[in-house]
Amino acid sequence: MSSAAGDATQAVALSFDDGPHPEGTRRILEALAVHDVKATFFVWGAQAQAHPDVVSETLAEGHSVQPHCWEHTSHFQMSAAAIGADIDAVLALLRELGVPTPQFWRTPWGHLQSGVTRAAAEQRALALTGWTIDSTDYAGNSASEMHANVTQELERGPGEPATLLMHDSNLEPIQRRSRSDVGETVELVRRLTADRRYVFGPLLSGLDDGLEEHPRSGPPPPLARRVLRRLKRDALAARRRRH
Ligand SMILES: [Zn+2]
Repeated sequence: MSSAAGDATQAVALSFDDGPHPEGTRRILEALAVHDVKATFFVWGAQAQAHPDVVSETLAEGHSVQPHCWEHTSHFQMSAAAIGADIDAVLALLRELGVPTPQFWRTPWGHLQSGVTRAAAEQRALALTGWTIDSTDYAGNSASEMHANVTQELERGPGEPATLLMHDSNLEPIQRRSRSDVGETVELVRRLTADRRYVFGPLLSGLDDGLEEHPRSGPPPPLARRVLRRLKRDALAARRRRH
């Protein structure tokens, strides 16, 4: 809402990948609550299964919870069946946890397998989602460096809604090596959300930015399929108990 010339505001959607994490996500939630800013969390299924309480807290705070992956594997290395099983496992779990029907899907590293990932998204009525600005928090950068880069990027495209990529855990192996916790990301969130030049809202952009599309180039990991079979079996058993 811009009221006079010279005080233009920039719409920004904050997004976090790789949670839920009992410490990381809660620290981010706390930082967002200071200015009552709502964000989108792309969750890692295996983590959500281990920490359903953190998913509930995220929802209770009014944030959006959307699927990232069950296993953090590049779609370039998965079979079409494994990609389908992986997203279905997350969707089944999110349903079980009472998460409102997801609309978006951000794949690990924004990798899409040619001819496969887009079809899988379409079949499940999910919009593939990238980002317009990468915070690079996974690389162990300081809040000051990231803040300088992000604000510079935001100034480059005033008026256009932006989608900022961040991470509420450091569980992904490359991140684990470069940062010990989410402290710098928390500080980045504090600085950005205190800045009156920005208006924080839902995902409106970046749906096709940041995504990389390639053909398959590796062996399929069988784990996602096993997980899906188990979730289906558990759901069936629960249904039987109810009757
Ligand atoms: Zn990720």
